[in-house]
Amino acid sequence: TNDQLSQWDRENFFHPSTHLAQHARGETPTRVITGGEGVFIEDRDGNRLLDAFAGLYCVNVGYGRTEIQEAIAAQAKELAYYHAYVGHGTEASITLSKMVLDRAPKNMSKVYFGLGGSDANETNIKLVWYYNNILGRPEKKKILSRWRGYHGSGLMTGSLTGLEVFHKKFDLPLPMVKHTIAPDYFRREDRSQSEAQFVAHCVSELEALIEREGPDTIAAFIGEPVLGTGGLVPPPAGYWEAIQTVLKKHDILMIADEVVTGFGRLGTMFGSDHYGIESDIITIAKGLTSAYAPLSGSIISDKVWKVLEQGTDENGAIGHGWTYSAHPIGAAAGVANLKLIDSMGLVENAGTMGSYFREAMRDAVGDHAHVGDVRGEGMLCAVELVEDKTDRAFYDPSKKIGPQLAAALLKRKVIGRAMPQADIIGFAPPLCLSKSEADTVVAAMAEAVREVLG
Ligand code: PLP
Repeated sequence: TNDQLSQWDRENFFHPSTHLAQHARGETPTRVITGGEGVFIEDRDGNRLLDAFAGLYCVNVGYGRTEIQEAIAAQAKELAYYHAYVGHGTEASITLSKMVLDRAPKNMSKVYFGLGGSDANETNIKLVWYYNNILGRPEKKKILSRWRGYHGSGLMTGSLTGLEVFHKKFDLPLPMVKHTIAPDYFRREDRSQSEAQFVAHCVSELEALIEREGPDTIAAFIGEPVLGTGGLVPPPAGYWEAIQTVLKKHDILMIADEVVTGFGRLGTMFGSDHYGIESDIITIAKGLTSAYAPLSGSIISDKVWKVLEQGTDENGAIGHGWTYSAHPIGAAAGVANLKLIDSMGLVENAGTMGSYFREAMRDAVGDHAHVGDVRGEGMLCAVELVEDKTDRAFYDPSKKIGPQLAAALLKRKVIGRAMPQADIIGFAPPLCLSKSEADTVVAAMAEAVREVLG
């Protein structure tokens, strides 16, 4: 029964990213999700909700796709598991590696499969260190990241993540991780700066950090093409080009964390294509399988691979592997999912429908006295709320404006996400969003803004 489930949940289930004390007091009741179709999910109480955040921006093809369900079932029936350690693979894992490389930017060479975005980024940092050790420069180790970046919540990846809640009381970040500023033009300190001047400011901050730490101690820079969990912030024009010039000058590798932007979300297959980023390593997860099964990957460039392949010792093996690397069920889901992204034309729809959705959102709420910014790229849209529009003042966090708005949306059967940073409501719908579904989300948001902010 529902009552029994809530009791078992409260007594036994330690949910991720939950407020532990509130959970113990029973203040965060669990919605039991039982089904989904297209952009909608259903719960055990019979509610049907339009999920305008695609789970955690991962169900790119939408819910309930029989093509993926059947591929998973067929794989489970044939062979649910065998490892992928040297000399072993499955038809699904080998096929998926080819499909990923066929879609990746041209300078990419190999893909290593993991389970989720966090472990893929852990892999990336180990590979970068391995790379520098092979090149005989073991002191080139530090990793640069950005405040408000999100790269996971492991020890290294939680350190790379530039959000305080992932550091506080965990003794993070680790000392070899250094953060630079987020490219958030709306939140620039100097209001008089043009976009180009703000980019120059981001570059000079990065240069100063590199100078302080010493370029010979820095191995890599990691960044999401569009800052995700930190507030869905597209970079100002020219940002990536300018950042890459600095990185190349100091021989610092570029890791593009495309866990959110990979496989179509920005209206291009990869964010690296979208912004002309020449990545040395690309992190993939979420959209790789549309989350029908856990699978992630590290796509490695020719440049990095050529060094890595010289590096194996006399045993011939790199000491890095997971039991579930390239898990057959995940790989089968990935193959079916990538086929579906192509056949449904989802990369294109993310671009065109994403623009329509964002413009409609801007028309509906952009002029409101407490809406500071409506922004996004492809099928990503954020609405940033401010106490005062003229000086972009933040609301007092205790007012919980973001969560109140998300709750007001939910009352209208639409899921948007109150981002952990400031009062930002994020939308990242499945890439199959239709015009009428986009209109539903916008109408619900307009009503929710009026209800909460007047
Ligand atoms: N990188 C980015 C950009 C992400 O958005 C996320 C998760 O949201 C991760 C890494 C971590 O992925 P996971 O939660 O699968 O470990």
